[in-house]
Amino acid sequence: GLMMERIRHAFGATEVLKDVSIVAEAGKLTCLLGPSGCGKTTLLRLAAGLEKVQDGQIYLQGRMVGDGKTGLCLAPEKRGIGLMFQDYALFPHLNVYENIAFGIRNLTPERRTWIDAGLERMGVAKHRNSYPHVLSGGQQQRVALLRALAPEPEILLLDEPFSGLDVTRRAQVREDTLNFLKECGVAVLMVTHDPEEAMFMADHIVVMKSGKVVQAGTPVQTYFHPVSAFVAELFGAMN
Ligand code: ATP
Repeated sequence: GLMMERIRHAFGATEVLKDVSIVAEAGKLTCLLGPSGCGKTTLLRLAAGLEKVQDGQIYLQGRMVGDGKTGLCLAPEKRGIGLMFQDYALFPHLNVYENIAFGIRNLTPERRTWIDAGLERMGVAKHRNSYPHVLSGGQQQRVALLRALAPEPEILLLDEPFSGLDVTRRAQVREDTLNFLKECGVAVLMVTHDPEEAMFMADHIVVMKSGKVVQAGTPVQTYFHPVSAFVAELFGAMN
């Protein structure tokens, strides 16, 4: 899994993370939940190695990959992470199969079988040879998820993976994604500002506010035992 300890981060004079510690366990889905601007994406980018640690430590599978003291910052491609952002960012000049295979260094028969099974499993097998522009948003999301998982990452980092989808599609894609991730057994750290999404998907919820963790626990704990009015109101706004 992933462990981030005592992370502080500033852009210029603005402190956006103020002593944040989180854990995302193997086989579990951890949601970072909080309002816009509270620092969720910055934390995810630090985990990925897209942002250099200024203060604190990051461990992946027990190995230190980032350290503010020594300036250690392992490159993203060496971290064994899968990344998926809200815009999916599929390569327009590659077809669906090629997009998914892109990050696999050694495309063994076993990995090819995995891709085909994944396409089947996520209901996009008929688009195996299609180019991204002909796919719906939901189909692109599914392909992007397969691409992120194809190199067998130890941890998957998702930033608002469903926010680009219209509300009618979102519930189904969420459910399919959740089932697929459970089968994969990968550790997932997912950013969302939607409390309902966190309740539905997470094993563990980390609530953030203004660069700090204000509560961490299971969905049931956070929903039924909010530690503050802020957390209560966050879930109270759920419909
Ligand atoms: P959102 O849900 O809107 O994406 P967030 O919780 O993910 O919000 P971040 O994107 O981590 O929040 O941003 C936290 C704060 O840091 C914001 O005030 C943002 O304006 C600021 N910030 C983020 N990236 C940079 C940057 N590269 N330079 C300067 N300020 C930044």
